[in-house]
Amino acid sequence: MSFVKDSANRTPIVDTVFAIVEKANQAKAKNGDDAVVDGVIGSLYTEEGKLATLDTVFSTLKSIDDAHLAKYAVSFTGNPDFRQDAIDWVLDGNSNLYKEVIATPGGTGAVGMSIENCLEPGQTLILPEIAWGSYALMAQMNNLQTASYSLFKDGHFNIDSFKAVCQEVMKKQDRLVMIINDPCHNPTGYSMSEDEWKEVIAFLNECSRTHSIVLINDIAYIDFSYRGAYAKHYFTCFDEISDNVAVIVAFSISKSMTSYGLRCGAAIVMAKTPEAVDELKIVFEKSARATWSNINNGAMEMFSEIMEHKKPEYLAEKQKYVDLLKERSQIFVEEAEACGLEHYPYKEGFFVTLSMDNDLRDKYHEALMEEKIFTVKVNKGIRVAICSMPIEKVRGLAGRMKEILEKVK
Ligand code: PLP
Repeated sequence: MSFVKDSANRTPIVDTVFAIVEKANQAKAKNGDDAVVDGVIGSLYTEEGKLATLDTVFSTLKSIDDAHLAKYAVSFTGNPDFRQDAIDWVLDGNSNLYKEVIATPGGTGAVGMSIENCLEPGQTLILPEIAWGSYALMAQMNNLQTASYSLFKDGHFNIDSFKAVCQEVMKKQDRLVMIINDPCHNPTGYSMSEDEWKEVIAFLNECSRTHSIVLINDIAYIDFSYRGAYAKHYFTCFDEISDNVAVIVAFSISKSMTSYGLRCGAAIVMAKTPEAVDELKIVFEKSARATWSNINNGAMEMFSEIMEHKKPEYLAEKQKYVDLLKERSQIFVEEAEACGLEHYPYKEGFFVTLSMDNDLRDKYHEALMEEKIFTVKVNKGIRVAICSMPIEKVRGLAGRMKEILEKVK
Protein backbone atom coordinates (compact mmCIF):
# COMPACT_ATOMS: atom_id res chain seq x y z
CA MET A 1 0.00 0.00 0.00
CA SER A 2 1.28 3.46 -0.78
CA PHE A 3 -0.13 6.90 -0.15
CA VAL A 4 2.18 9.07 -2.16
CA LYS A 5 2.36 9.07 -5.94
CA ASP A 6 4.44 6.29 -7.50
CA SER A 7 6.99 8.68 -8.96
CA ALA A 8 7.80 10.27 -5.58
CA ASN A 9 11.28 9.54 -4.26
CA ARG A 10 10.83 8.12 -0.76
CA THR A 11 14.41 8.40 0.48
CA PRO A 12 14.46 10.66 3.57
CA ILE A 13 16.42 13.92 3.44
CA VAL A 14 19.93 13.45 4.79
CA ASP A 15 20.52 16.71 6.58
CA THR A 16 24.26 17.21 6.70
CA VAL A 17 23.99 20.33 8.83
CA PHE A 18 21.53 19.69 11.65
CA ALA A 19 23.03 16.32 12.63
CA ILE A 20 26.43 17.99 13.08
CA VAL A 21 24.88 20.94 14.95
CA GLU A 22 23.60 18.36 17.42
CA LYS A 23 27.07 16.80 17.78
CA ALA A 24 28.66 20.22 18.27
CA ASN A 25 26.10 21.06 20.97
CA GLN A 26 26.78 17.79 22.76
CA ALA A 27 30.52 18.51 22.66
CA LYS A 28 29.90 21.98 24.10
CA ALA A 29 27.72 20.58 26.89
CA LYS A 30 30.43 18.05 27.78
CA ASN A 31 33.59 20.12 27.34
CA GLY A 32 32.44 23.75 27.57
CA ASP A 33 32.08 26.25 24.70
CA ASP A 34 35.73 27.28 24.75
CA ALA A 35 36.95 23.80 23.91
CA VAL A 36 34.80 23.49 20.79
CA VAL A 37 35.14 25.06 17.34
CA ASP A 38 31.69 25.27 15.80
CA GLY A 39 32.00 26.04 12.10
CA VAL A 40 28.66 24.51 11.17
CA ILE A 41 25.90 27.11 11.29
CA GLY A 42 25.40 28.91 7.98
CA SER A 43 23.90 32.10 9.41
CA LEU A 44 25.69 35.24 10.46
CA TYR A 45 26.55 35.29 14.17
CA THR A 46 27.96 38.07 16.35
CA GLU A 47 31.27 37.92 18.17
CA GLU A 48 29.23 37.11 21.29
CA GLY A 49 27.83 33.99 19.66
CA LYS A 50 24.31 35.28 18.98
CA LEU A 51 22.40 35.26 15.69
CA ALA A 52 23.17 38.66 14.11
CA THR A 53 20.03 40.76 13.68
CA LEU A 54 19.82 44.24 12.23
CA ASP A 55 18.03 46.66 14.50
CA THR A 56 16.84 48.77 11.53
CA VAL A 57 15.09 45.67 10.22
CA PHE A 58 13.40 44.47 13.38
CA SER A 59 12.48 47.86 14.81
CA THR A 60 10.82 48.63 11.47
CA LEU A 61 9.01 45.31 11.42
CA LYS A 62 7.74 45.78 14.97
CA SER A 63 6.50 49.29 14.19
CA ILE A 64 4.12 47.98 11.51
CA ASP A 65 0.59 48.00 12.83
CA ASP A 66 -1.25 44.76 13.54
CA ALA A 67 -3.72 45.11 10.68
CA HIS A 68 -0.84 45.35 8.18
CA LEU A 69 0.97 42.38 9.70
CA ALA A 70 -2.25 40.40 9.61
CA LYS A 71 -3.47 41.17 6.13
CA TYR A 72 -2.83 39.39 2.86
CA ALA A 73 -0.47 40.94 0.34
CA VAL A 74 -2.01 43.19 -2.30
CA SER A 75 -1.38 40.69 -5.09
CA PHE A 76 -0.13 37.16 -5.78
CA THR A 77 2.98 38.67 -7.34
CA GLY A 78 3.69 40.77 -4.25
CA ASN A 79 2.95 44.35 -3.20
CA PRO A 80 3.63 46.86 -6.01
CA ASP A 81 5.99 48.99 -3.93
CA PHE A 82 7.91 45.90 -2.76
CA ARG A 83 8.32 44.79 -6.36
CA GLN A 84 9.69 48.15 -7.44
CA ASP A 85 11.91 48.41 -4.36
CA ALA A 86 13.30 44.92 -5.05
CA ILE A 87 14.23 45.94 -8.61
CA ASP A 88 15.82 49.18 -7.44
CA TRP A 89 17.74 47.55 -4.60
CA VAL A 90 18.91 44.43 -6.39
CA LEU A 91 19.74 45.81 -9.81
CA ASP A 92 20.82 49.26 -8.60
CA GLY A 93 20.30 50.80 -12.04
CA ASN A 94 22.50 48.20 -13.76
CA SER A 95 19.95 46.81 -16.21
CA ASN A 96 18.19 48.03 -19.33
CA LEU A 97 16.25 44.82 -19.90
CA TYR A 98 12.50 44.40 -19.57
CA LYS A 99 11.72 43.11 -16.12
CA GLU A 100 9.01 41.83 -13.82
CA VAL A 101 9.09 40.79 -10.18
CA ILE A 102 7.28 38.01 -8.37
CA ALA A 103 7.60 38.04 -4.59
CA THR A 104 8.59 34.60 -3.31
CA PRO A 105 9.16 32.84 0.02
CA GLY A 106 12.89 33.54 0.12
CA GLY A 107 15.42 32.71 -2.55
CA THR A 108 14.23 29.11 -2.21
CA GLY A 109 10.84 30.07 -3.63
CA ALA A 110 12.40 31.97 -6.53
CA VAL A 111 14.77 29.17 -7.53
CA GLY A 112 12.18 26.42 -6.98
CA MET A 113 9.49 28.18 -8.98
CA SER A 114 11.86 28.76 -11.89
CA ILE A 115 12.96 25.14 -12.01
CA GLU A 116 9.43 23.81 -11.72
CA ASN A 117 8.04 25.90 -14.55
CA CYS A 118 10.88 26.01 -17.03
CA LEU A 119 11.72 22.30 -17.42
CA GLU A 120 9.57 19.28 -18.27
CA PRO A 121 9.83 16.20 -16.03
CA GLY A 122 12.75 14.07 -17.24
CA GLN A 123 14.71 17.05 -18.60
CA THR A 124 18.07 18.07 -17.19
CA LEU A 125 18.87 20.97 -14.89
CA ILE A 126 22.46 22.24 -14.99
CA LEU A 127 24.06 22.88 -11.59
CA PRO A 128 27.44 23.74 -10.14
CA GLU A 129 29.31 20.63 -9.02
CA ILE A 130 29.76 22.04 -5.51
CA ALA A 131 26.49 23.65 -4.53
CA TRP A 132 23.78 24.43 -2.02
CA GLY A 133 22.07 21.06 -1.47
CA SER A 134 18.54 22.29 -2.10
CA TYR A 135 19.11 22.60 -5.85
CA ALA A 136 19.44 18.84 -6.26
CA LEU A 137 16.43 18.27 -4.03
CA MET A 138 14.34 20.69 -6.09
CA ALA A 139 15.37 18.78 -9.21
CA GLN A 140 14.38 15.49 -7.58
CA MET A 141 10.98 16.83 -6.48
CA ASN A 142 10.27 17.90 -10.06
CA ASN A 143 11.46 14.61 -11.54
CA LEU A 144 14.39 16.24 -13.27
CA GLN A 145 17.83 14.91 -14.07
CA THR A 146 20.86 17.00 -13.17
CA ALA A 147 24.20 17.61 -14.87
CA SER A 148 26.94 19.52 -13.11
CA TYR A 149 29.76 21.71 -14.30
CA SER A 150 33.06 21.76 -12.53
CA LEU A 151 33.51 25.17 -10.91
CA PHE A 152 37.19 25.95 -11.13
CA LYS A 153 40.17 25.65 -13.41
CA ASP A 154 43.46 27.25 -12.38
CA GLY A 155 41.67 29.22 -9.68
CA HIS A 156 39.06 30.71 -12.03
CA PHE A 157 35.54 29.93 -13.21
CA ASN A 158 35.73 26.80 -15.34
CA ILE A 159 34.08 28.11 -18.49
CA ASP A 160 35.25 25.08 -20.49
CA SER A 161 33.38 22.70 -18.22
CA PHE A 162 30.33 24.95 -18.19
CA LYS A 163 30.28 24.99 -21.99
CA ALA A 164 30.87 21.25 -22.32
CA VAL A 165 28.00 20.41 -19.94
CA CYS A 166 25.61 22.80 -21.71
CA GLN A 167 26.56 21.33 -25.10
CA GLU A 168 25.97 17.80 -23.85
CA VAL A 169 22.54 18.69 -22.44
CA MET A 170 21.60 20.50 -25.66
CA LYS A 171 21.91 17.23 -27.53
CA LYS A 172 18.95 15.77 -25.69
CA GLN A 173 16.51 18.64 -25.08
CA ASP A 174 15.22 21.83 -26.66
CA ARG A 175 16.07 24.14 -23.77
CA LEU A 176 18.72 24.84 -21.19
CA VAL A 177 18.09 25.86 -17.60
CA MET A 178 21.13 26.41 -15.43
CA ILE A 179 21.91 27.83 -12.01
CA ILE A 180 24.84 30.12 -11.40
CA ASN A 181 25.13 31.00 -7.72
CA ASP A 182 27.15 34.21 -7.83
CA PRO A 183 28.48 36.41 -6.27
CA CYS A 184 29.62 34.93 -2.93
CA HIS A 185 29.06 31.36 -4.10
CA ASN A 186 27.82 28.95 -1.43
CA PRO A 187 29.94 27.17 -0.23
CA THR A 188 33.24 28.26 -1.83
CA GLY A 189 33.03 32.05 -1.54
CA TYR A 190 33.99 32.56 -5.19
CA SER A 191 32.71 35.56 -7.15
CA MET A 192 33.02 35.67 -10.90
CA SER A 193 34.76 38.58 -12.63
CA GLU A 194 32.84 40.68 -15.13
CA ASP A 195 34.92 39.14 -17.93
CA GLU A 196 33.84 35.67 -16.81
CA TRP A 197 30.21 36.77 -16.86
CA LYS A 198 30.66 38.26 -20.35
CA GLU A 199 32.02 34.95 -21.59
CA VAL A 200 29.06 33.08 -20.09
CA ILE A 201 26.56 35.44 -21.73
CA ALA A 202 28.31 35.28 -25.12
CA PHE A 203 28.21 31.49 -24.96
CA LEU A 204 24.53 31.39 -23.90
CA ASN A 205 23.70 33.69 -26.83
CA GLU A 206 25.35 31.16 -29.15
CA CYS A 207 23.33 28.32 -27.59
CA SER A 208 20.16 30.39 -27.93
CA ARG A 209 20.29 30.12 -31.74
CA THR A 210 18.88 26.62 -31.38
CA HIS A 211 17.65 26.36 -27.77
CA SER A 212 15.73 28.53 -25.34
CA ILE A 213 17.86 29.45 -22.38
CA VAL A 214 16.89 30.27 -18.80
CA LEU A 215 19.74 31.45 -16.62
CA ILE A 216 18.89 31.36 -12.91
CA ASN A 217 21.29 33.65 -11.09
CA ASP A 218 21.04 32.89 -7.38
CA ILE A 219 22.33 35.99 -5.57
CA ALA A 220 21.44 34.90 -2.02
CA TYR A 221 24.60 36.38 -0.44
CA ILE A 222 25.15 39.41 -2.70
CA ASP A 223 24.60 41.98 0.04
CA PHE A 224 27.55 40.57 1.96
CA SER A 225 29.97 41.12 -0.90
CA TYR A 226 33.11 43.01 0.12
CA ARG A 227 32.75 45.21 -2.98
CA GLY A 228 29.65 47.13 -1.87
CA ALA A 229 27.44 48.46 -4.65
CA TYR A 230 30.02 47.48 -7.27
CA ALA A 231 29.10 43.83 -6.67
CA LYS A 232 25.93 44.57 -8.67
CA HIS A 233 27.68 46.07 -11.69
CA TYR A 234 27.91 42.69 -13.46
CA PHE A 235 24.13 42.83 -14.09
CA THR A 236 25.03 45.17 -16.99
CA CYS A 237 26.45 42.07 -18.76
CA PHE A 238 22.90 40.67 -18.92
CA ASP A 239 21.91 43.58 -21.21
CA GLU A 240 23.72 41.70 -23.98
CA ILE A 241 21.44 38.62 -23.90
CA SER A 242 19.68 37.64 -27.11
CA ASP A 243 15.89 37.38 -27.53
CA ASN A 244 15.96 33.67 -26.78
CA VAL A 245 17.58 34.04 -23.33
CA ALA A 246 15.78 34.89 -20.08
CA VAL A 247 17.49 35.65 -16.79
CA ILE A 248 15.85 35.04 -13.42
CA VAL A 249 17.61 36.67 -10.51
CA ALA A 250 16.72 34.90 -7.26
CA PHE A 251 16.86 37.42 -4.42
CA SER A 252 16.59 36.58 -0.72
CA ILE A 253 15.92 38.97 2.13
CA SER A 254 16.92 36.13 4.50
CA LYS A 255 20.56 37.18 4.23
CA SER A 256 20.24 40.77 3.03
CA MET A 257 18.02 41.69 5.99
CA THR A 258 19.20 38.91 8.37
CA SER A 259 15.58 37.78 8.46
CA TYR A 260 15.72 34.11 7.53
CA GLY A 261 12.42 33.20 9.17
CA LEU A 262 10.32 35.92 7.55
CA ARG A 263 10.39 33.93 4.30
CA CYS A 264 10.56 36.74 1.80
CA GLY A 265 12.45 37.21 -1.44
CA ALA A 266 11.82 37.74 -5.12
CA ALA A 267 12.25 36.30 -8.59
CA ILE A 268 13.32 39.15 -10.87
CA VAL A 269 12.56 38.03 -14.40
CA MET A 270 14.51 39.79 -17.14
CA ALA A 271 14.52 39.48 -20.92
CA LYS A 272 15.02 41.43 -24.12
CA THR A 273 11.35 41.57 -25.05
CA PRO A 274 8.21 42.39 -23.02
CA GLU A 275 6.55 39.24 -24.42
CA ALA A 276 9.22 36.98 -22.93
CA VAL A 277 8.96 38.61 -19.52
CA ASP A 278 5.18 38.47 -19.64
CA GLU A 279 5.06 34.77 -20.44
CA LEU A 280 7.21 33.93 -17.42
CA LYS A 281 5.27 36.30 -15.18
CA ILE A 282 1.89 34.83 -16.11
CA VAL A 283 3.03 31.29 -15.35
CA PHE A 284 4.90 32.26 -12.18
CA GLU A 285 1.89 34.17 -10.86
CA LYS A 286 -0.30 31.10 -11.24
CA SER A 287 2.37 28.90 -9.74
CA ALA A 288 2.62 31.25 -6.74
CA ARG A 289 -1.12 31.25 -6.25
CA ALA A 290 -1.26 27.48 -6.40
CA THR A 291 1.57 26.90 -3.91
CA TRP A 292 2.16 29.64 -1.34
CA SER A 293 -0.63 31.97 -2.53
CA ASN A 294 0.96 35.21 -1.40
CA ILE A 295 3.95 36.47 0.56
CA ASN A 296 4.27 37.72 4.13
CA ASN A 297 2.85 41.25 3.98
CA GLY A 298 4.76 42.50 7.03
CA ALA A 299 8.10 41.39 5.56
CA MET A 300 7.37 43.18 2.28
CA GLU A 301 6.27 46.37 4.06
CA MET A 302 9.35 46.26 6.26
CA PHE A 303 11.61 45.96 3.20
CA SER A 304 9.87 48.85 1.42
CA GLU A 305 9.92 51.09 4.49
CA ILE A 306 13.69 50.59 4.83
CA MET A 307 14.40 51.02 1.13
CA GLU A 308 12.31 54.17 0.88
CA HIS A 309 13.06 55.85 4.23
CA LYS A 310 15.88 54.19 6.17
CA LYS A 311 18.45 53.07 3.66
CA PRO A 312 21.46 54.92 5.19
CA GLU A 313 20.81 53.42 8.66
CA TYR A 314 20.38 49.97 7.16
CA LEU A 315 23.54 50.23 5.08
CA ALA A 316 25.61 51.46 7.99
CA GLU A 317 24.41 48.67 10.24
CA LYS A 318 24.91 45.97 7.62
CA GLN A 319 28.39 47.26 6.79
CA LYS A 320 29.59 46.43 10.31
CA TYR A 321 28.79 42.79 9.67
CA VAL A 322 30.30 42.85 6.19
CA ASP A 323 33.50 44.18 7.79
CA LEU A 324 33.36 41.51 10.47
CA LEU A 325 32.94 38.76 7.90
CA LYS A 326 35.84 40.18 5.93
CA GLU A 327 38.05 40.20 9.01
CA ARG A 328 37.20 36.60 9.88
CA SER A 329 37.72 35.37 6.33
CA GLN A 330 40.98 37.25 5.92
CA ILE A 331 42.41 35.63 9.04
CA PHE A 332 41.36 32.16 7.96
CA VAL A 333 42.48 32.48 4.34
CA GLU A 334 45.83 34.10 5.18
CA GLU A 335 46.60 31.45 7.77
CA ALA A 336 45.47 28.68 5.41
CA GLU A 337 47.76 30.00 2.72
CA ALA A 338 50.66 30.32 5.14
CA CYS A 339 50.39 26.68 6.25
CA GLY A 340 49.38 25.20 2.89
CA LEU A 341 45.83 24.23 3.78
CA GLU A 342 44.18 24.00 0.37
CA HIS A 343 40.84 25.65 -0.24
CA TYR A 344 38.75 26.64 -3.25
CA PRO A 345 39.30 30.19 -4.49
CA TYR A 346 37.66 32.43 -1.90
CA LYS A 347 36.76 36.04 -2.65
CA GLU A 348 33.91 36.89 -0.28
CA GLY A 349 30.94 35.41 1.52
CA PHE A 350 29.83 33.26 4.43
CA PHE A 351 31.96 30.13 3.92
CA VAL A 352 35.44 28.95 3.01
CA THR A 353 35.62 25.41 1.61
CA LEU A 354 38.67 23.16 1.81
CA SER A 355 39.26 21.19 -1.37
CA MET A 356 39.73 17.40 -1.30
CA ASP A 357 38.25 14.23 -2.72
CA ASN A 358 35.27 12.65 -1.02
CA ASP A 359 37.16 9.70 0.51
CA LEU A 360 39.62 11.95 2.26
CA ARG A 361 36.82 14.34 3.17
CA ASP A 362 34.92 11.61 5.05
CA LYS A 363 37.95 10.53 7.10
CA TYR A 364 38.99 14.12 7.73
CA HIS A 365 35.53 15.23 8.84
CA GLU A 366 35.54 12.48 11.49
CA ALA A 367 39.07 13.31 12.59
CA LEU A 368 38.14 16.98 12.96
CA MET A 369 35.19 16.07 15.16
CA GLU A 370 37.47 13.99 17.38
CA GLU A 371 39.44 17.20 17.90
CA LYS A 372 36.16 19.05 18.61
CA ILE A 373 36.19 20.97 15.31
CA PHE A 374 32.78 20.80 13.67
CA THR A 375 32.31 21.53 9.97
CA VAL A 376 30.00 20.47 7.13
CA LYS A 377 30.79 17.96 4.40
CA VAL A 378 30.07 19.19 0.87
CA ASN A 379 30.84 17.55 -2.45
CA LYS A 380 34.64 17.46 -2.78
CA GLY A 381 35.22 19.52 0.31
CA ILE A 382 34.80 20.62 3.88
CA ARG A 383 32.80 23.79 4.49
CA VAL A 384 33.99 26.10 7.25
CA ALA A 385 31.25 28.54 8.28
CA ILE A 386 33.30 31.60 9.17
CA CYS A 387 30.00 33.51 9.22
CA SER A 388 29.13 32.08 12.63
CA MET A 389 32.60 31.86 14.24
CA PRO A 390 34.02 34.58 16.48
CA ILE A 391 37.45 35.91 15.52
CA GLU A 392 39.15 34.27 18.50
CA LYS A 393 37.95 30.87 17.24
CA VAL A 394 39.03 31.61 13.66
CA ARG A 395 42.55 32.61 14.70
CA GLY A 396 44.86 29.60 14.61
CA LEU A 397 42.15 27.33 13.20
CA ALA A 398 43.70 26.82 9.75
CA GLY A 399 46.97 25.65 11.31
CA ARG A 400 45.17 23.16 13.57
CA MET A 401 43.13 21.89 10.64
CA LYS A 402 46.26 21.44 8.55
CA GLU A 403 47.90 19.36 11.30
CA ILE A 404 44.86 17.11 11.56
CA LEU A 405 44.73 16.77 7.78
CA GLU A 406 48.35 15.65 7.61
CA LYS A 407 47.59 12.89 10.13
CA VAL A 408 44.65 11.44 8.17
CA LYS A 409 46.25 11.71 4.72
N1 PLP B 1 20.58 30.11 -2.29
C1 PLP B 1 21.62 29.73 -1.54
C2 PLP B 1 22.91 29.47 -2.22
C3 PLP B 1 21.48 29.56 -0.17
O1 PLP B 1 22.52 29.18 0.56
C4 PLP B 1 20.22 29.82 0.42
C5 PLP B 1 20.03 29.62 1.86
O2 PLP B 1 20.83 29.10 2.56
C6 PLP B 1 19.18 30.23 -0.41
C7 PLP B 1 19.39 30.36 -1.77
C8 PLP B 1 17.78 30.52 0.04
O3 PLP B 1 17.56 31.06 1.23
P1 PLP B 1 16.11 31.61 1.59
O4 PLP B 1 15.10 30.71 1.00
O5 PLP B 1 16.08 31.62 3.06
O6 PLP B 1 16.04 32.98 0.98
